[in-house]
Amino acid sequence: MGSLTYRKEFFEVPTPSYVIAKDLLEHNLRILHEVEESTGAHVLLAQKCFSMYHYYPLIAQYLSGTTASGLYEARLGHEEMGKENHVFSPAYKESEFAELTKICDHIIFNSFAQWKKFGPEALAAGVSCGLRINPERSTQDHAIYDPCAEGSRLGVRLRDFDASAIGGLEGLHFHTLCEQGADALAVTLEAVEAKFGKYLPQMKWINFGGGHHITKAGYDIALLKKCIRRMQEKYGLTVYVEPGEAVALNAGFLVAEVLDIQQENAIAILDTSAACHMPDVIEMPYRPPVLGSGEPGEKAHTYTFAGPTCLAGDTIGTYSFDEPLAVGDRIVFGDMAIYTMVKNNTFNGMPLPAIIASDEDGSWQTVRQFGYEDFKMRL
Ligand SMILES: *Cc1c(COP(=O)(O)O)cnc(C)c1O
Repeated sequence: MGSLTYRKEFFEVPTPSYVIAKDLLEHNLRILHEVEESTGAHVLLAQKCFSMYHYYPLIAQYLSGTTASGLYEARLGHEEMGKENHVFSPAYKESEFAELTKICDHIIFNSFAQWKKFGPEALAAGVSCGLRINPERSTQDHAIYDPCAEGSRLGVRLRDFDASAIGGLEGLHFHTLCEQGADALAVTLEAVEAKFGKYLPQMKWINFGGGHHITKAGYDIALLKKCIRRMQEKYGLTVYVEPGEAVALNAGFLVAEVLDIQQENAIAILDTSAACHMPDVIEMPYRPPVLGSGEPGEKAHTYTFAGPTCLAGDTIGTYSFDEPLAVGDRIVFGDMAIYTMVKNNTFNGMPLPAIIASDEDGSWQTVRQFGYEDFKMRL
């Protein structure tokens, strides 16, 4: 799955648009649901990655609920999915906390100071409270995505763990992975047990966070299940995983159009922008797949794709094609459901791509369209 093949709707939708395919989303949801079914673990959608709530009723058929990074995502999960609703934030605001206690089942704190400040209010409201821990076991080299990196603000380290203050806490949460396999989870779990294992028997649940590339081909689902069962059997815990990427991996496309071609530089300017519509291309960084393309120089005609903004570095990547491109041609980027709609912006007054829902049979509908007012209203 995830191979980039032609779909009828690519030739029909307005450009630019994010096209999110129900059949591809459902493929992922089935895999995640099977993990729930066979282990009893609860899988939650991490909304910060994918918040296209048009599909929340579908997702609700397969997953246990949602997790949020703060009040607005928590509200969205509550309003549009209405299942289990969890929240973690590095710090909560007093003005927002009361509402969180009304709409969240789990609230996870990032420090003992936050737990002491807000815990009583959360407990009084019947919320299950947890603490994010930092096992300080890096399994990746990408510091910006590594909560175990030196100086990280994410999670309580063992040296700061105040065992005298854990009364009332029902769970521990860690999130240290990013696009990783179950092997990295197993290594992390070993560090969690070595450092915090003595507190686990007093807990009701453990949350493995996100970053599990569960729906990617080759992911070791058997090892994930083994990790889940170990926590269930050894400590009697309910296990939560909260993937974002794995839910909508390879389920979406960004369809754009060629506006101009600078033949001398072999640059094609599109009506989409890396900086505005797929910021992770620059931030992460990565080169998204393009339908029908090869590596630079692999096919006869090579072009660098760039956006129409002022940013010199607003380039998406370099790709080759069998035929020369022409103005008006459509370009289809793959894997565009995740960390795209939730991160886009209108820098340079760029229009936002429409959001389209499509299905296997080529049918599609416009979920949302944006215009000038969406740019103006934020300024
Ligand atoms: C980012 C994040 C997730 C989801 O991560 P993915 O890499 O999208 O699976 C889950 N939980 C927390 C706390 C996060 O910060």
